[in-house]
Amino acid sequence: MTITTERTTTPACAEHDDLFQSPLLEEPALASSVELRRRQVLMTRKAESICLDCPLMVDCLYRAVAKHDVAGYCAGTTQRQRAEIRQHLGLRVDPEDFDTFAGANSGHQIDHDEVLRLRHARPNDSLESIAQRLGCSLSTVKRHLRKARRGEAVGRPAKLSSIVPTLEQVLNAYQQVVARARPSQPTRRAA
Ligand code: SF4
Repeated sequence: MTITTERTTTPACAEHDDLFQSPLLEEPALASSVELRRRQVLMTRKAESICLDCPLMVDCLYRAVAKHDVAGYCAGTTQRQRAEIRQHLGLRVDPEDFDTFAGANSGHQIDHDEVLRLRHARPNDSLESIAQRLGCSLSTVKRHLRKARRGEAVGRPAKLSSIVPTLEQVLNAYQQVVARARPSQPTRRAA
């Protein structure tokens, strides 16, 4: 497998948004029965396979580990696995900027209150139209609304801790946490 850090292609997750935006992938605790757990495992395997074949994998992993504590499944990792990777690195990233990662949007921060304001002001508008107004993904709007329903605080924009890991350090930690048993690992294409 060859992977680049170029961002010239559409993220593969955007073409599988039903999978990547599934609550079962975004919130593993929802798998409360054997059947749901089985589905969750199958979905996770499929998403992992897509990420491992994605040309943005390395860039996406670095961002999701070292720059922003994004929600849900991305870069072949669950949110919990990324937290473990940060533990290995001694890295602390403030939660939670779930708008800014390779597969989510163009990189700007979405105002949580603005999402709620638009939703309340235009209850008959589709979530897609809210996403268009805000210039973000449908997934981002859904996540903000889920957060609001659960009464969870939405964090400030993520900050780097004083440690700034190298890409190699992140990949090594990733391999330790996630990829020990995998036959293939993400590697950077030689320049
Ligand atoms: S989450 Fe990241 S690695 Fe996975 S498909 Fe999307 S852009 Fe690629």
